[in-house]
Amino acid sequence: MIPNKQTETLLADRPSPETIAAWRQDFPILGREVNGKPLIYLDNGASSQKPRAVINRLEHYYAHEHANIHRGVHVLSQEATGAYEAARETVARYLNAAEARECIFTRGATEAINLVASSWGGANLQAGDEVLLTVMEHHANIVPWQMLETRLGIKLVVAPISDEGELLVEEWEKLISPRTKLAAFCHASNSLGTVNPAKAMIAKAHAKGVPVLLDGAQSSAHMKIDVRDLDCDWFVCSGHKIFGPTGIGVLYGKAALLGAMPPYQGGGDMIDVVSFSGTTFRGLPERFEAGTPNIAGAIGLAAAFDYLDSIGHEAIAAQEQDLLAYATAQLQQIEGLTIYGRAAEKVSLISFMIDGLHPNDIGTMLDMDGIAVRTGHHCTMPLWERFGLTGTTRASFAFYNTREEIDALITSLNKIRRLFLG
Ligand code: PMP
Repeated sequence: MIPNKQTETLLADRPSPETIAAWRQDFPILGREVNGKPLIYLDNGASSQKPRAVINRLEHYYAHEHANIHRGVHVLSQEATGAYEAARETVARYLNAAEARECIFTRGATEAINLVASSWGGANLQAGDEVLLTVMEHHANIVPWQMLETRLGIKLVVAPISDEGELLVEEWEKLISPRTKLAAFCHASNSLGTVNPAKAMIAKAHAKGVPVLLDGAQSSAHMKIDVRDLDCDWFVCSGHKIFGPTGIGVLYGKAALLGAMPPYQGGGDMIDVVSFSGTTFRGLPERFEAGTPNIAGAIGLAAAFDYLDSIGHEAIAAQEQDLLAYATAQLQQIEGLTIYGRAAEKVSLISFMIDGLHPNDIGTMLDMDGIAVRTGHHCTMPLWERFGLTGTTRASFAFYNTREEIDALITSLNKIRRLFLG
């Protein structure tokens, strides 16, 4: 991204090298070597690393607090239940939900979207209804709706983007018709970095009576999320991308909407009374959490949110926007390199191609230098089709990355170019 007014202000507030070094100390994995080189982890968009605070919290839970929740009269069960429900309170506070019961623990963003598609979609959509998506969606926000296309005969409508990778918001708005029953789009694109103007888009959709599902899998690690300010109807995110454990995510939904949705999965904990003559279901949030949940995951996710609060969202944004601007400027110096995704507002990731080089070769060679990036379609095949590509190399930064690591990336890329292209 070419630094604009917003990033210029952020760059002025760039955290000091000592602060960044202290952050790095919080992440034990950053001290390891890969292929005999210090690890340079630039695959944060796929999954971010875990601070000691999260690791310790998981260890403490398993060493001192573990039992199944909600069912036991014994002390451990009550302690585990208390910790799990306290985690829900933390999540609600972090997302600024009105009530904790609006936050459902899921396996991740994928399961959260599937929950809405299956439960709300199954109950509210019928043949001929339209779901409005964008071409930059992750497969997780395409395939569940496509399954409803097959099951119910609904239609998917796909909004276009510009060559810069920005959503054509006016086109998107024009695609909202009386048949549109839902708009679902990403807050930030995992392949382009583009941040969509979610709040304005949600207001436009609501003005036409259309509810919105916002996929926050890529935004939630980078910016303060306020679901009430955004006014989204559902918001989904994944713990493992927000410095928390794998296998845990959140579906936020407005209480009135969630409360009217039928259960997604059936089983223990989500019922009131079970009898062979009929079963009744519990209210929120239990009705959507059938079976034993990922108790440790939820507790670890809350620890991750507390940790992020201690770092501060402004500091995180300042550091990441500096890395984005610095890396963009450096990468553009490399001959034959094209950046895909040049939106005015981006999260800190860069997708690129180098003429004559295959992304897989770039990724493999970078790995030999200890540099972890992602290569391939990044689960956005329709997006790359739009650009006439099958994928890219993607470097995605977290606040613990440094300018020196970007310098190492550039050196390594130049070396790879010389090696392959002479
Ligand atoms: N949406 C977006 C934009 C994503 O980047 C991802 C993960 N790459 C997902 C959804 C799915 O997240 P998960 O695999 O953690 O369920």
